[in-house]
Amino acid sequence: MDGMANGLTYMRKTTTPEATKQLASTLAPYLHEGDVILLECDLGAGKTQFVQGIAEGLGIRAAVTSPTFNILLQYGGGRIPLYHFDLYRLDDADELEDIDFYGTIEGDGASFIEWGSKFPEAMPYGFLQINITVDEEGVRTIKAHALGVRARSILKVWSSDSKSRLMKVAG
Ligand code: ADP
Ligand code: MG
Repeated sequence: MDGMANGLTYMRKTTTPEATKQLASTLAPYLHEGDVILLECDLGAGKTQFVQGIAEGLGIRAAVTSPTFNILLQYGGGRIPLYHFDLYRLDDADELEDIDFYGTIEGDGASFIEWGSKFPEAMPYGFLQINITVDEEGVRTIKAHALGVRARSILKVWSSDSKSRLMKVAG
């Protein structure tokens, strides 16, 4: 099936890290246990900033850092647990079992996944995809694309929240 026909896309541009965090913090209230968000972005585009904003929005006090060397960082103490994966250092999909990837993403929190595109067969059927690109002036274009019924409903309520300032992308 054609992804675009079944998908829904919104976008916003940000010019400061604070704006990226603010946008992310407006998504946090709409996340429930078992939700999966894929982060597909240029290096240094602002994935960590985005997840910091999610943590803030969930009421997590711990400092959010990059999971590159840990593969999975988890944060409790908020409304729901936050799981932040970076699959870059995994070579084989079998290693996902070792880190309880499947149990975790279907578990009690919201999961943010970097480099999920390395293991497309391991990704759930539906997910929200966040794409951040940087232009020559350093302006970030943040796109949110929903695949599947649950992701569409998240994106609909998030984009209806005036604090998100998301705009619908045609197509
Ligand atoms: P990534 O995790 O995608 O590699 P980080 O979030 O660690 O990226 O770093 C992004 C860097 O870009 C930070 O130093 C941040 O201050 C800077 N930055 C500048 N403008 C923005 C913006 N609009 N949104 C997010 N980060 C920005
Ligand atoms: Mg990072």
